[in-house]
Amino acid sequence: SIVVTGATGHLGHHVLEQLLEKVPADQVTAVVRTPEKAAGLAERGVRIAVADYNSPETLDGVFAAGDRVLLISGNEFDKGRVAQHRAVIDAAAAAGVALLAYTSAPASLTAALADDHRGTEEVLLASGLPYVLLRNGWYHENYTENLAPVLEHGAVVQAAGEGRLSSAARADYAAAAVAVLTGEGHENKSYELGGDEAWSFAEYAAELSRQTGREIAYQPVSTADYTAILAGAGLPGPLAAVLAGVDASIEKGELAVTGGDLSRLAGRPTTPLADAIRAALRD
Ligand code: NDP
Repeated sequence: SIVVTGATGHLGHHVLEQLLEKVPADQVTAVVRTPEKAAGLAERGVRIAVADYNSPETLDGVFAAGDRVLLISGNEFDKGRVAQHRAVIDAAAAAGVALLAYTSAPASLTAALADDHRGTEEVLLASGLPYVLLRNGWYHENYTENLAPVLEHGAVVQAAGEGRLSSAARADYAAAAVAVLTGEGHENKSYELGGDEAWSFAEYAAELSRQTGREIAYQPVSTADYTAILAGAGLPGPLAAVLAGVDASIEKGELAVTGGDLSRLAGRPTTPLADAIRAALRD
């Protein structure tokens, strides 16, 4: 079976949709903690396994020998994600799966956000399982799904200076994951995944202006100011600091990942940022 954790999340949704285009549903297992969210998948014949990364015993029996597994990293930043992911890796290793692919972060990313990914990579390599590191860069959607304040204030406020980044759509990263899960020859490989083209926040603001017909400017701020702005918008303090740290990494070019691994795996160019903006403005 092909087993996908985090199947009811945003990335998981794209992975499942693209997998079901290539593989019969009865060969796919979705690992979910909230079965109600997986009702549609179950109706289509996908096997549903209910498990929570926080309760290792729930992972017993989820995996079988020979499975090809995609571990989609969790989003509970305060719950010890390395230990959560270790529970999944241990269960997969105990079952003797054939491959475990993990959605990591680019090797170039030094921001604190990458620490859990580095830790998980170490656990995975130590497990002795055949692995694939899908070192995902940044999502377009991190920006295009958060346009309301930008349109309201006519400003893109970030703490990334003139830095450039090469984001891609979640659907692009999903295509890479599906290629690895359904293809051959990926054992023990690491892929540095990012969009084909890098862009700056000034260019992003210019594209928003073009598409909306309104004046939208990039307003670079300091890391401290950006942290305060995010906290003021309701983000928990530690998360605000982590996200501001990502902007500092963007300023240094650490999320410009343009080596082409993503479009090679997906077998097509990555989604242009302008297309993602257009889709978001339509919604
Ligand atoms: P989502 O937050 O949409 O999905 C996270 C998934 O993880 C959900 O399906 C969630 O389950 C599942 N999950 C979280 N905690 C547990 C747990 N304790 N046990 C079982 N399942 C759990 O994120 P995305 O799909 O957008 O992104 C996937 C991952 O990529 C994120 O979790 C994060 O690690 C990372 N990420 C990457 C970004 C990037 O730009 N590259 C940006 C943001 C995140 P449920 O559906 O029940 O909530």
